[in-house]
Amino acid sequence: MKGILKSTALSALRSTGVFSVVRRSGWRRQRLLVLCYHGLSLQDEHEWLPHLFITPELFRQRLACLRQMSANVLPLGEGLARLASGSLPEASVVITFDDGFVDFLKHGVPALAEFGFPATLYLTTHYMKHRLPIVNLALDYLLWKSRRASARFPGEGVETEMPLGSYLERQKVVQRILKAASEKNLDTVGKDEWARSIAAQLGVEYQPILDSRMLQILSADEIADVAKRGIDVQLHTHRHRSPGDRDLFMKEIQENRRAIHEITGTNPVHFCYPSGCYKPEFLPWLRECEVQTATTCERGLATGGSDPLLLPRVLDDSLTGPLRFQSFVSGLLV
Ligand SMILES: [Zn+2]
Repeated sequence: MKGILKSTALSALRSTGVFSVVRRSGWRRQRLLVLCYHGLSLQDEHEWLPHLFITPELFRQRLACLRQMSANVLPLGEGLARLASGSLPEASVVITFDDGFVDFLKHGVPALAEFGFPATLYLTTHYMKHRLPIVNLALDYLLWKSRRASARFPGEGVETEMPLGSYLERQKVVQRILKAASEKNLDTVGKDEWARSIAAQLGVEYQPILDSRMLQILSADEIADVAKRGIDVQLHTHRHRSPGDRDLFMKEIQENRRAIHEITGTNPVHFCYPSGCYKPEFLPWLRECEVQTATTCERGLATGGSDPLLLPRVLDDSLTGPLRFQSFVSGLLV
């Protein structure tokens, strides 16, 4: 009901021209919309996690909408510099992708090139050397894909039958498997063998998932290709984690930066908190690492008053309708 009311109100506002007035206002010129994306489905990922995956078709519709609304899509560095100096053009937008899934190269990069829009990829680098799906995501996908109401995996740490009906229930199972794997000191390859075994127990074919490269991070060669095509590659930690210990936290940034530098030859200085999680103590550590800006998953438009290490973004997802997306771009409602 709330959604319907919001949509009706937005529709009325658009028809009265309010979207356009706000989009062209001085108020909006002092604000930067940083859009956040994760994955573009290779198969049915958007049905599994609609907040993290959208279809390539929907992504192209978004780009078409940005063009149709005369949005000024800027590179991240330029957008943030012009935000700080108060010189943003009308309806400024920055496009960011998190993690560096293979689907970004397959679907994202060509679509961005076609529209002539720049984008930043916040890349996590550990999985780069593995042609394997990220295990926590792969496990949840397998549980979802099986359509089973419950399951047990005695060989992988789940002794008793556990429900699989919801995301939270599946996460409990995933966490239990990962805990058992870590108690056995399994490495990335060992954990993937468990994922394969669990797929077999669930009756889900694993090899096609592997072959499709779903949930895999781009290889070093592919990242070089992405960078060569003009995508700005920035920091997202090496292992997609933010340890509470200063030295470990800084090591995550340093390893991530070194890996990106080796491939692209650039020195990344923009950061995105893994899973959007941040703590106050991270800020001085980021400054020590000479990180200039950091984005969160807090919803909002960035302003000149935003802390450069706590910049808000707007997550666009499969559940966001076209009108709502237009309201993001206008700045009326994020
Ligand atoms: Zn991430």
